[in-house]
Amino acid sequence: MKVAFFSTKKYDQDFFEKINSDNKHQLTFFETALNVHTASLAQDFEAVCVFVNDDLNKKNLEKLADCGIKLIALRCAGFNNVDLAAAAENNITIVRVPAYSPQAVAEHAVALMLTLNRKTHKAYNRVRENNFSLEKLTGFNIYGKTVGVIGTGIIGICFAKIMLGFGCKVLAYDIKPADELKDLSVNYVAIDELLQESDIISLHCPLNEQTHHLMNTDAFNKMKKGAMLINTGRGALIDTASVVEALKQEKLGYLGIDVYEQESGLFFNDLSETVNKDDDFLRLMSFPNVLITGHQGFFTKEALDQIAQVTLKNLTEFESGNELENEVKA
Ligand code: NAD
Repeated sequence: MKVAFFSTKKYDQDFFEKINSDNKHQLTFFETALNVHTASLAQDFEAVCVFVNDDLNKKNLEKLADCGIKLIALRCAGFNNVDLAAAAENNITIVRVPAYSPQAVAEHAVALMLTLNRKTHKAYNRVRENNFSLEKLTGFNIYGKTVGVIGTGIIGICFAKIMLGFGCKVLAYDIKPADELKDLSVNYVAIDELLQESDIISLHCPLNEQTHHLMNTDAFNKMKKGAMLINTGRGALIDTASVVEALKQEKLGYLGIDVYEQESGLFFNDLSETVNKDDDFLRLMSFPNVLITGHQGFFTKEALDQIAQVTLKNLTEFESGNELENEVKA
């Protein structure tokens, strides 16, 4: 198929070209994100391939349909950026990569948790400046703590298992509990109990109408004072204004995020020579107990390889008219 890739970096191109070495599909890589101004680049292509911050709203989908696009291949798991009803109205099929190394994201959540706790990012800088003082680097034992996992799909299950390995008591909340975790002494509880009892909470549910701003003022008020919140799910699971307030009031003890509500246009770009005008983001960065990474949970060799393999398989299935294993429907 002739496929236009949007929001691509060199590493995307490298991995896709390696897996597509037989040139089964004709791949064209655009660096630009897909938006109302760039959708017309898809003219003369049969499919587009997009990432987490490409906006597949009704208007852009209509433009893509006008260009003749029949398939949109998401090279990610989440599909909160797609208006599925509008895609169906425009006869555009959506496929995704439902699972690519869930360990990559779960392990990144653990990295955020450990860094925030043991302050290794601060220790690294101190030692490089010949400052060997331990003042204010005190952490706490993860062993024996209560960890709450919200969303126990493939990533949440990996994360919960790692936490069990650390010797934690694991609580979980999900609208569809996983039998695998119940068998491993994970306790499914109501969300309020999880918020009240957990020392550390990690978010692994999708972003949708039910989970938008799941972590709001009400939720922060229910949490233990000084608890840690980790988010590798999607930015808008957390209400940014509420989390800033919870940090200011010292209710929330630590915040580790790999995703941010307004990350589109910010993350994945080198903006080191530009003025950051996002005051909420700057406020978050001003707290000593906040750690932010730029949506890199997925970013391992294994995951990039898997993303390229599954995406190309999705294209081949569509082209040959076979049943689509990874189709997303409204
Ligand atoms: P998944 O579909 O396997 O699991 C999601 C789980 O959330 C399911 O068990 C589902 O029942 C549950 N859920 C749905 N609605 C819920 C609700 N209202 N309350 C509680 N639980 C609910 O998905 P996954 O592969 O484990 O991924 C989880 C999320 O992680 C994705 O949706 C995506 O947003 C995010 N993600 C982030 C990165 C990254 O690089 N940071 C990479 C991949 C995925």
